[in-house]
Parts: sequence; structure tokens; C-alpha cells
Amino acid sequence: MRDLCYNKLDMINAKMNVRNLNLAELTDLMLKAGYPRFRAKQIYGWLSDVNITSFEQMTNLPLDLRDFLKQTFNLNSLELWEVLTSRDGNTAKFLFKLSDGNLIESALMKYRYGYSVCVSTQVGCRMRCAFCLSGAGGFVRNLEASEILEQVILAQKFAGSRIGHVVLMGIGEPLDNFENVVKFIELVSSPEGLNIGQRNISLSTAGLVNRIYDLMRLRLQITLSVSLHAPNDALRSRLMPINKTWGLPQLMAACREYFEKSRRRVSFEYIMLSGVNDDLKCVAELKKLLAGFPNHVNLIPANSGREGFKTSDLRTIKIFQENLESLGVQVTLRRALGSDINAACGQMRCVVQGGKDGST
Ligand code: SAH
Repeated sequence: MRDLCYNKLDMINAKMNVRNLNLAELTDLMLKAGYPRFRAKQIYGWLSDVNITSFEQMTNLPLDLRDFLKQTFNLNSLELWEVLTSRDGNTAKFLFKLSDGNLIESALMKYRYGYSVCVSTQVGCRMRCAFCLSGAGGFVRNLEASEILEQVILAQKFAGSRIGHVVLMGIGEPLDNFENVVKFIELVSSPEGLNIGQRNISLSTAGLVNRIYDLMRLRLQITLSVSLHAPNDALRSRLMPINKTWGLPQLMAACREYFEKSRRRVSFEYIMLSGVNDDLKCVAELKKLLAGFPNHVNLIPANSGREGFKTSDLRTIKIFQENLESLGVQVTLRRALGSDINAACGQMRCVVQGGKDGST
């Protein structure tokens, strides 16, 4: 077992990470510090260069500015702690150590259309979904925007190729870390930064309805993905405690409005849990729930998660899919990626930290 330090003093003394700043904020800082405006653009350009690990490498900046930046900011705060690659070579799973010793996971996936990265947004999670490992050890803290961004930068460095898509589906509930997640989306999609278009970014939520409305007001172009997992309130409340706060009628109303405001089709994730949510009664209920607005269901074979839950077999999943499709619902079946390397959310961190928080 590795030594995991939680040094609070480090957190207090830590300088701010420069990657938390957008171009406007950097420009403001440059002007206040007496540097010309164009320096901000130069610095911002360096920040999306995956090979930059120190301010010294920003060679087109005067030495005194490099020194100023070094005194004022941190540049990197993630350390690659472990990486696993799937047998087919299409998935890599990263365990990153944060500057306070906490661990988070990200996954890199290679598709026909290019690379996609799945990022974590929190250390731990408050949602306590019954089948999920990510929240098993409880909630520790929110990630800063820079810590989410660095996951993408380091994944891009590892891939040696441009990342085209980002999914906020790793550890944590993105809408429970609203400000930092919105800042991350702004940073990662900025044309002067990594320039990943918002239409190529998906945010997955367990269903924090008030925050879905907040997100709507920002008029982002991202895809909203909702972890549905059950077609009725009784079952959903059993699987996902958040459903006791925001039930399905409220959640579906918010999703409908999200579509109306953004004209972006909402995506629903549905984990196939054997004997729990995979029969034909669920199919009929799902059809009713999703009627009336453009959406799409992504069926996910469950990864080995918490005790008492196992995945439906492929035959059951296929029957479920065909029946749902025959009722006019758009359905896709998620390709099982990297199950040989524990690529399911939370699994890798649990294996390493298992002895610490007793979560596996
Ligand atoms: N909190 C957000 C995002 C993180 S979870 C959310 O709930 O959407 C990302 C996805 O992985 C969610 O759909 C989640 O329900 C799913 N997931 C959790 N445990 C899983 C498991 N054991 N097998 C398959 N998917 C799982």
C-alpha cells in the first residue's frame, strides 16, 4: 500500500494554479503587474502546450516575467501515479496524485472518431448511488478547474495526439462542483486554449435539478447526460438517494426544458443491473417517461461495482434494447471499454485506497 499523505498545510500554503485563470483574467493580471497585454496571450498559449512543465520553458517571456509567474503561481498539480492500458490498446486508465495526496482517476479512450477523455470532478462523491464505487469512500473535496483541465492535458500528452472529446463522467458529481466545472468547460473550450468544442463535451449528472436549471441559464452548447438507471421513483430512490430530493417528474421536466432551451438532445444513461431494472416492465415505463422530446438512451453493462449488483447478461441487454427500440426510443449500447483494466469509474482508486477508507 502506498503512503497517502493528506497534508493540510500544503493546501494552505499552496499558491494558486495559473491554469485556473482564463485569458481575460490573465490579461487583467498582466496589466496590473505592469506588463503589456500581449504577454497574457503568450502565457495562455503555453498553458495548452502539453510539454510545458515549468515557467522557465516559456522562452518568449522576459526572465523577470517568468520569475514573477514562478513566485505567484503553481503550474502543475497532478502527478501521474499509475497508468493501466487495456489489452486491445484502446483504453488507458490514469491514477493521478493531487498536490494534497488525494487520488483521482481519468480514462483515455480511442474511438474511430478520435480520442476522448473521461475526467473526475471531485475527490469522492456525495451522491451515494447504491451500485457505484466512486462514492463508496465518501466525499473528500471538490477539484479546482485547473485540476480537471490538467487531466485532459496529461491525457493528451500520453496519447501524443489531440483530444477531441471530453466527458465529465469520472469520479464525482459535476453539478455538485458547479463553479469549478463551468470554469473548466470555459477553459477547455476556449479557442486560445485546448479548443475542444462545447458540442464535443458531455456532462453527466445524477440529477441535481436546481443545477440543471442553472446550467441552462449559461446557454452552453454541451450535451447533458443524465444517469437515469430506473424508470420509476420507487426503484430510482432505492438506487440513487438524490431521487428523494428531486424525483422523476421534476427531473424529466428539467430535461425537457434543457432540450427546449438548448435544442440539444438529452442523453440518458441506464446501467443494466441483473434482476433490478432489466425486465420488460421497465421497458414500458421507460418509453412513457421519455415520450415527447428528442432524447437518447445509452445502455451500460454494469461494471463490477458494489456488492449485491451485477450486470445483466448480454442476451437480456439485447432483448431490452430491441424492445425499447421497437417502441420508438433511440438506444445505443455502450461498448465495454477496458473492463480488463478496471476502467469502470472508481474501481482503480478503490483498489489503491481500499485499505485506507475500507471501500472495497
Ligand atoms: N455523478 C455523475 C457522473 C459520474 S458517474 C453521474 O451520476 O452521472 C458516471 C456514470 O457511471 C454514471 O452514469 C454512473 O451511474 C455510472 N456508474 C457508476 N457505477 C457504475 C458501475 N458499477 N457500472 C457501470 N456504470 C456505473
